[in-house]
This record gives sequence, structure tokens and C-alpha cells, in this order.
Amino acid sequence: MTAEHKITERLSPESHDGNRGLHYEENLLWEKEHCDHPGVDLPQAENISLRTGLPERGAIGLPQVSEPQVVRHFVRLSTWNYSIDHGFFPLGSCTMKHNPRLNEKIARLPGFAHAHPLQPAETVQGALRVMYELQEWLSELTGLPGVCLAPAAGAHGELAGMMTIRRAHEAKGQGHRKIVLVPDSAHGTNPATAVICGYTTRTIKTSETGRLTIESFKEALGDGGDIAGMMVTNPNTCGLFESDILEISKLLHEAGGYFYCDGANFNALVGKIRPGAFGVDVMHINLHKTFSTPHGGGGPGSGPICVTDELAPYMPVPTVSHENDTYRLEYEDERPESLGRLRGFVGQFGMHVRALAYMMSHGADGLKQVSEDAVLGANYILSQLQNDFHVPFEGPCMHECLLTDKGLKEKGIQTIDIAKALCEYGYHPMTIYFPLVVNGAMLIEPTETESKDAMDRFITVMKSIAEDAQNGDADKFHHFPESTPRKRMDEVKAARQPTLRWRETS
Ligand SMILES: *Cc1c(COP(=O)(O)O)cnc(C)c1O
Repeated sequence: MTAEHKITERLSPESHDGNRGLHYEENLLWEKEHCDHPGVDLPQAENISLRTGLPERGAIGLPQVSEPQVVRHFVRLSTWNYSIDHGFFPLGSCTMKHNPRLNEKIARLPGFAHAHPLQPAETVQGALRVMYELQEWLSELTGLPGVCLAPAAGAHGELAGMMTIRRAHEAKGQGHRKIVLVPDSAHGTNPATAVICGYTTRTIKTSETGRLTIESFKEALGDGGDIAGMMVTNPNTCGLFESDILEISKLLHEAGGYFYCDGANFNALVGKIRPGAFGVDVMHINLHKTFSTPHGGGGPGSGPICVTDELAPYMPVPTVSHENDTYRLEYEDERPESLGRLRGFVGQFGMHVRALAYMMSHGADGLKQVSEDAVLGANYILSQLQNDFHVPFEGPCMHECLLTDKGLKEKGIQTIDIAKALCEYGYHPMTIYFPLVVNGAMLIEPTETESKDAMDRFITVMKSIAEDAQNGDADKFHHFPESTPRKRMDEVKAARQPTLRWRETS
């Protein structure tokens, strides 16, 4: 008998502690065997607390484990967090691109990493210069001269931007304008932000081409007297450029409304077109998407806003100014019309450093190539999969491509089953069931940092999934994924009745 045979005889494929392949099974620390043995040899403390010197009230139930046990526990858990460093992450709308390690190196320079927000400005001139230059780059790239770096994420930027618009209307005696126009394909944070700012939303309908039309816009606009503004993503969440945006923004401005652009999809435009040129008044930028800083559990976000000269006095404080070779933060005393502070201190400074490092290492030509390659990659995937999956809108896409489950659904296989099959074959699924206006949507965004080879492997897997689905083995699809530590979940139950407390099972 060979050694290999002996091993397989001794251990079942699901070996004794639940491992299979390189997928680790990992229990809670409390559930570990021998978790009642402390990892250090301290003399028995005779019921006196080492911390307080007072009598102990009894065990508080912390697991008693050794250092190696703790290290393994957390390292194993960390491998469950799928990330862009593990593999392809085609999550549409999220721009999961590689984060160059150069950014990390720069952000860890002691002068940046150890700066304290309460330090006097003269001791952090370099840090303020980073923020100032980032403002300048963002202003140049968007064509919008006012920049505030404070917002901590995309949705926070939306809030900052819509509060700026509200403040401007109030200052002009237009506070009665209470309606914000939002397309039916919008990201959920858009209407949510408008409502939090005290507005009511009115929907602009997307046409069969996946875009807004002058007619649908005019219908939503009405006479315009009650319109505060509109919130639109361009390219929109179907991955398509809004071809009538110039005319639409003109009509909106004539009616006295402001154009808020959700800048999460900036990866398709950066270096190619300045959104100020198609009429945008305010836009947030997700530094953690377009400018590569880690996100999705990997780090904090940052959602600066860029605004027109007209709106700049109203945006939040602080901003960094530069005079006589000195950088400093401007607050309400110098910007009395500002809506004030949105948060403590200056924003996610570490993200500002990473984003500027990314911009400077790419340069103007490199950023232009980013958007060109992002659009090329998405169109490559679209062209390769258009005969395998239903494509809802004709023509080329921008930085993400949209497919649906139409044609497979009749065979009992839906978008969710395709996503689960991708998990089985080792791929993180694309964004599914978004945008809401497209039934069974699958939104794929490869980003410019995926090689053709990586996209080809994904395409091959998608093609074989489509073929199996066409052959109609619905039952197999309903049981995917099978090789993951957790199999097919009851997702409705997990969302509606989550188990948030650990209970001992006998
Ligand atoms: C990601 C995203 C947002 C929100 O950004 P967060 O940083 O997650 O708050 C808003 N709109 C669109 C279209 C997005 O893709």
C-alpha cells in the first residue's frame, strides 16, 4: 500500500477537522477544543483580579487559548475575506481594481502616517500640500473648481453635495424647491440622500435604449418651478453614456435646478472628459473606486465633492488654501456661507495620500489610458458573451457590461443560480439584480487592471455555465455552490432572521 493510500484511508476527504482542499473550516474561539487552558503560566491569583487588585466576581467566560491558537484562528478567518488580491472581482458599479502597493508605501511614510489632526498647520505643511494638490487634480479632472475632501465615502459625498445644493437654494430665496429628479436606474443611495435632505424624489423613466430621453426628462421636469435638482450617474448604472445629457442639463438649468452627478462611475471618464463640460454642478468622487484605494472591507473610503464656482461658497468646510508658500485649512470664519462641518477634522487623510500617489504615478496620460482600458475590457467581455447570454441594450458599453438571465429563466435557471455557479468555479460573482430596471441583471466590471488572460478565463467559465444552463440541468444549478465551506444558503432567512448571538450547541 502506498503512503498516499494510507492517508486517504485514515482521513475521509472531509478530513477530521472539516478541511477540504485548501478551504479551512474554522470554528469560533469559544468552540475550540481545550479552550479552557490559559496560554500563559501565571501563578494562581486566588480570586484576586490581576487588573484591579479586587476580588474576582467569577469567570467572565473568555476563551483561554494560546498565542499560536489565536494567530491561526484570525489568519484562517482572514482567508475567508475574498478580495481583489485573491482574484478577479467583477463587481459592477464597485470598480474593484488593483491597489498599487506604491500607494501603501507612500501612505506609510512616517510624516503622513503619524501626523495628528490637532497639530499646528506649520508642522504639517507637507500633509496639507498633499490635500491641496489632490484638490487641484480633482478640480482639473472634473472641470469643477471647488473641492472639499471631507466626506468619508461616496454616500457621504452625496449628502455633502445635496446639502450644498439645498444651502444654495436657500441663500437665493429658492428654498421652496422641494423635488429632486432621479432616474429609475439610480443607485439606491441617490434617492435616499435626497430624502434625508428633506426632498421628495420624482422618477425619470429609462427608455428601451437604457438611457434617459429628452421626452422622459421633460415629463418629469414639468414646469420646473418646484425642482431643486437632479441626481444622475453618467455613464448610468446600465453602463451606458447618457447621450442626451447636454440637452438635459441645459433644460434643468433653465428651470433653475442643479445637476448632481454621482461620480462612482468616473472610471469610464477619467482623463477623457470633464463632467463640468456636460453641465454638472456638483459631483462626488469615490477615491476608493476610481483612484484605487482599498475598499469593501479593505479600508475606509473617501468621497470628496467637486462643485462649480457658483456653489463653492456653500460647500462644507474645511478646504485647504495656498498663499505665500503656506498651506492652511479654511473654516467657517473665512467661508461664512458654508453649510459648516460634516465630520471631525479633515477627512480620510490616508486615502488622500493614496489617491494622490495613484494620480501622480499614472500622470495625465496614464489616467486617460485607465478609462480607455477599462472601457475596452468591458466591451471585450460583452463581445465574447453576447451570444451566450441575453444583452438587454444594443451597442457598445462603457466601463461595465450588462447581461441578463432571459432565455435561461424559462429553463428554471436564474441570475442567482449563475452567481452561485461562479462561486463553485472559484469566481466572485458580478453585481446581480442591479440596476433594478433590468430583470435578472448581471453587471460585470472588469476594470483596466485585469489582463486579457484573466478575462479569458472568466469568459470560459461563463460560457460553460451558459452551456450547462442551456442544457437545462436546473437541479444541479439550484445546489451550487458545493465545494465551498458553506453551501447554498437560505438567503431570505439569513437576511430576515439573522442569528447574531452565539449559542452553545450540544
Ligand atoms: C459605490 C456607489 C455609491 C456609494 O459609494 P459608497 O462609498 O459605498 O458610499 C454611490 N453610487 C454608485 C453608483 C456607486 O457605485
